[in-house]
Amino acid sequence: MYNFYFNILNSDEPRHAVHKKKCSYLQKDGNYNYIGRHKDCQEAIKEAKKKHPEKDFEECPSCSK
Ligand SMILES: [Zn+2]
Repeated sequence: MYNFYFNILNSDEPRHAVHKKKCSYLQKDGNYNYIGRHKDCQEAIKEAKKKHPEKDFEECPSCSK
């Protein structure tokens, strides 16, 4: 299980990238939202979609493996 977060977007980005805490692509300065503890990125995205049905999410190519 890992803690997952998604980046709060700049207005020009269409989708929220979902990351583990230690990923270097997770935005700094607290500019991200906590999703929860999940076994993998796909589960985290499902949860994020439930909480935020108006947003789109994507796996991070770096930390989702
Ligand atoms: Zn990542």
